[in-house]
Amino acid sequence: MINRLVVTTEQIQGDLINLDSHQLHYLLRVLRLGNNDRFIALDGLGHSWMAEIIDKSAKIVELIDVDAELPIFLSLITALPKGSGYEQVIRCCTELGVNSFMPVISDRTIIKPSNNKIQRWRKIVTEAAEQSERQIVPTIFEPVKFTAAIDHIQSESDKYICIARGDIPSLWHCLLNSESSSIVIATGCEGGWSDQEVEKAIASGFKPVSLGSRILRAVTAPIVVSSLVSAISDR
Ligand code: SAH
Repeated sequence: MINRLVVTTEQIQGDLINLDSHQLHYLLRVLRLGNNDRFIALDGLGHSWMAEIIDKSAKIVELIDVDAELPIFLSLITALPKGSGYEQVIRCCTELGVNSFMPVISDRTIIKPSNNKIQRWRKIVTEAAEQSERQIVPTIFEPVKFTAAIDHIQSESDKYICIARGDIPSLWHCLLNSESSSIVIATGCEGGWSDQEVEKAIASGFKPVSLGSRILRAVTAPIVVSSLVSAISDR
């Protein structure tokens, strides 16, 4: 298996990649690569290159034309679960092809995320994107209140809010009948959504949907959502 490394577009100059000291340490000391060894450099925005190590620098050999991305742009709004549950959510859902993560504070959210949490989340999705051989590193937005987040969603997206109880259509059936190329799906935390949050979401164009007859954990629900979208849209 060939190793993958995320670089910034600013690091690429012509056919050279200006590696920083952390990246050099990773390639030369951790992976023990040497002169003429190859790795895949990706900019996290959809481009990747085969690169070769030459004297503590890297040279681009060729552009790689592969596409491991979902044909649908999938954004997840997730009311932050307890403890480190959100780390599991973003790791698994990055593997499943999610494009953007919007962590939110809902009426029943317990935890208050700190600034270094967000840095840690970005590191987790970068590693998960490298590991699952994606071209795109998903975006993680700063946590905001749920009601603020739903005001900022683009209107052309299909929008769903997952609700654990009630006689409502299943997400799977809605996806079967949808032709949208951009989907936003919200799932709640352990305590679920408040009635006001559900009302506000519906008023903003979110469709209430079910994930089946069993109550899933707050960490499981976004993983199921991502699996369904990937199953219906992936090649
Ligand atoms: N305590 C809540 C359930 C919370 S489950 C209750 O008793 O009703 C956490 C979140 O996962 C929910 O807010 C919902 O968004 C999602 N979820 C779990 N199971 C679901 C299901 N069967 N259908 C739709 N959404 C579900």
